[in-house]
Amino acid sequence: MEEVGTGLLDRLDAMQRVAASAPGGPLLVVAGPGTGKTRTLTHRIAYLCAELGVSPDQCLAITFTRRAAGELGERLAGLLGEVAEGVTVATFHALGLTILREQPAAAGLSGGFRVADEPEQAALRAEAGEDDEAYRKLLRAQNLVEVDELVGTALAVLRGEPALAESYRRRWPWLFVDEYQDVDADQYALLRELSPADGNLYAIGDPDQSIYSFRGAEVEFFLRFAEDFTDARVVRLSRNYRSAPPIIAAAVQAIAPTTLVRERRLEPARLLPDAPLLGRYQAGSAADEAQFVARTVDALVGGVSHRSLDAGGRGGLSARSATGEVSFADIAVLYRTDAQAGPVLDALQRAGIPVQKRSHNRLASRTGVAEVARELRLAGPAAAGDVATRVKRAGQTLAERYDAPTLDPADTVTVTPREVWAAVEVLTPLAQECGDDLPQFLTALAAGSEVDALDPRAEAVTLLTVHAAKGLEFPVVFLIGVEDGVLPLTFGGAPLPESAVAEERRLFFVGLTRAQDRLFVSYRQRPSRFLGVIDTALFESLGPASPPRPRHQQPRLL
Ligand code: ATP
Ligand code: MG
Repeated sequence: MEEVGTGLLDRLDAMQRVAASAPGGPLLVVAGPGTGKTRTLTHRIAYLCAELGVSPDQCLAITFTRRAAGELGERLAGLLGEVAEGVTVATFHALGLTILREQPAAAGLSGGFRVADEPEQAALRAEAGEDDEAYRKLLRAQNLVEVDELVGTALAVLRGEPALAESYRRRWPWLFVDEYQDVDADQYALLRELSPADGNLYAIGDPDQSIYSFRGAEVEFFLRFAEDFTDARVVRLSRNYRSAPPIIAAAVQAIAPTTLVRERRLEPARLLPDAPLLGRYQAGSAADEAQFVARTVDALVGGVSHRSLDAGGRGGLSARSATGEVSFADIAVLYRTDAQAGPVLDALQRAGIPVQKRSHNRLASRTGVAEVARELRLAGPAAAGDVATRVKRAGQTLAERYDAPTLDPADTVTVTPREVWAAVEVLTPLAQECGDDLPQFLTALAAGSEVDALDPRAEAVTLLTVHAAKGLEFPVVFLIGVEDGVLPLTFGGAPLPESAVAEERRLFFVGLTRAQDRLFVSYRQRPSRFLGVIDTALFESLGPASPPRPRHQQPRLL
């Protein structure tokens, strides 16, 4: 546990402290990546609870993914110990579910309602023909809700019953939202319902990291915060604690053409005069690019632990200059689309490098997951025990059934036992989080993405889309496929509208700024136009056949 009581805010810089210790009322923290927004948020909550006597159960902190919620919860526990358990940390989906569970009747549901999974939705849609109103009726008749309507339905409930809305406002007078730039219209409206007129809403975010407009997120809500909430305070942070100076310099140049932040400032707090430049690799093919990643990972990890290197000099391989060691868990490979992951996954696995890959797809669409969920529901209350055990048992049953040669011919199962076990493995961390609460688990399954099931502590290289990497940081980052057509992503060569290019550029910005110490960008043949605006002096070109080598091969001094 970190220090509590006085000194809690000593671990923040002056501006962060201003934001963390501000009086109540609407407050917006506008700041770039790595400036400690999330850190400021957790310290704010800890400070309120530990020093100002706010009750933890009056605090509601909202995030977008379960992974982010989990991390926030952990950081809070680090600051507050057991007291942190009283704070409600929820995704928007989970918040919607909580409200509906407490008020099912107001939404036309009864107590034991569930979130429909994809096969159930498909079946009901087929039954309803094309008629969406009819479809909703069927859903309700089965006591089901869709994941995508959790927030909207909860909103309708609160709007329909003002007294109820008031009771929620009284329950959580302290409201916090991370990544506010990505709220969509329903989420925004729900936040407004939950915050009183004077809006004790504490929102943090970065408009330049708004990357979900394709899902209906509107950076507008961020930009007009000060108009929506009268007397809103705005705090800006500008010191980046995450990344080495060359990474920050490149990121700032990359976003400059379409930045949404007036006077964007991002200054390195980590003064590392010898920080390595960004590695840049032009590959001949996807396989070559994948080889480059595998070779470099091998050199970074094996190179430091098995060979002696200069630890941290420019061009040296050391990413973690403090300890001089890089582990697989320190490394992430980021890409624009899931389709790019295959060759890298192959190359890393062939090189014997442990990998964990999760896509931003819905967990429920992963092979085997729907089957496990169905099995869990079928087993019903008869199968006692915590969710993790039940998931394992369901996997066992399925794997045996799918292995058996005497399958019912009507049963057109295409899932192999191996896929079932892979699904069980992916689901286990989530199941463990849910304890005995099966409905919560099933909802998380329907609502969550695979990223939510990433294990941040796994000793493996992490493969992620840039979308999925938002808010995360890694000592070493490879950003692959930085080429026109991929980043920015185009479809069939058609030119992109300006707004789409701007969003792609923000994605590029998010990708670059995940890196703490080392950043490698690679592309096949033609580099992305986004690279063109970055000063070439910030890059070191890495030749096709030459993995980055330390300039001086001298024994490390102990
Ligand atoms: P993003 O926009 O990517 O979500 P962020 O602004 O939320 O970034 P954090 O993740 O909170 O940034 O912080 C980035 C890193 O910098 C973290 O490792 C955090 O612990 C560290 N950090 C932030 N502020 C300080 C500080 N005052 N002193 C030391 N380290 C800090
Ligand atoms: Mg953050």
